[in-house]
Amino acid sequence: MKNDYLLLTPGPLSTSATVRQAMLKDWCTWDDEYNVDIVQVIRQKLVELATHHAGYTSVLMQGSGTTSVEATIGSAMGASDKLLVIDNGAYGARIKQIADYYRIDCVVVAPGETEKPNLTEIEALLANDLAITHVAMVHCETTTGMLNPIEAIAKLAKSYGKVVILDAMSSFGGITMDIGELGIDFMISSANKCIQGVPGFAFVIAKKSALMPCQGRARSLSLDLFDQWQCMEQQHGKWRFTSPTHTVRAFYQALLELEQEGGIAARHKRYETNQKRLVDGMRALGFAPLLAEDKHSPIITSFYSPISEQFQFKTFYNALKQQGFVIYPGKVSHADCFRIGNIGEVYLDDIERLLIAIENAMYWRAPSLAGAACTAASA
Ligand SMILES: *Cc1c(COP(=O)(O)O)cnc(C)c1O
Repeated sequence: MKNDYLLLTPGPLSTSATVRQAMLKDWCTWDDEYNVDIVQVIRQKLVELATHHAGYTSVLMQGSGTTSVEATIGSAMGASDKLLVIDNGAYGARIKQIADYYRIDCVVVAPGETEKPNLTEIEALLANDLAITHVAMVHCETTTGMLNPIEAIAKLAKSYGKVVILDAMSSFGGITMDIGELGIDFMISSANKCIQGVPGFAFVIAKKSALMPCQGRARSLSLDLFDQWQCMEQQHGKWRFTSPTHTVRAFYQALLELEQEGGIAARHKRYETNQKRLVDGMRALGFAPLLAEDKHSPIITSFYSPISEQFQFKTFYNALKQQGFVIYPGKVSHADCFRIGNIGEVYLDDIERLLIAIENAMYWRAPSLAGAACTAASA
């Protein structure tokens, strides 16, 4: 089956036909052909993709990405621990929300959705608030597409001896990094983002020494990261409860295709090429990106909606959909934007075709496009 349109979204995203075909078989969750040959291989490959340092392991968890963020916060943090959250978008805010549900004491650094966090402010908190035990942050804040300075923040957090939790949901597999090198204790990502699988599960890559103390801490049975890990370790890839077998098999195929592409570095380059062409082409059409260019990620880009009484996102969206492209609404609270992702099975010629489709879809076209006014606003 072919897709009617290309998803230019932050995930679920467009997958290859071969990834989708890999789902056309049923699997027994007790059989070695599934647990040992698929699940265990995936777990091993994920660790290898994440770091060259020893001492890391991976845990797969049913559900969307948020489920695994929640499993991590709820399993890694004890009742008297305190969390420092970096929040410059919806996903940072969600970590704080999870902490609130668990009644975990929390302090937030919130520079606003279009700014990077201030390292001096973070350091002052770490130096003065001795109750802080954990630091959580988002790598690519998918709300805007901003890439956060995780190297500097992780280094700072480690220098104060804190446990570091990274939501790398929309970046892992699409941006090169070594979490062991960065000193990350828990990194969370999901099947349907840059590895280019389909939705259904997420995963946590953890330093074993940080995971060991989590025994007995979780406040939720289904979200007990330690228990899930122990089951997978002791029963060779067995999930505690029903696993999304078809999704997992598709993910295995997606990992092979990532290797065939040349690994994360090659994929990073493809995404970056897509994103740069997108921004150049959009600028030429009169659109302005929300963020200054040094804050962009190769994952997704926010653009200001054109300043026109006639512009309506839904109409624009439908005009693009008819031409074979699906884009994403904005998520920033203080500006009228839309977003275009370039992760997934998306190549430079798709971006070229998209730019033509966008030009065709500019039904409001009049003297005042986003252009000058927006460039001024983003400067
Ligand atoms: C996609 C995403 C998530 C998880 O979202 P789900 O809808 O729960 O899968 C979390 N953080 C970031 C940065 C994301 O991009």
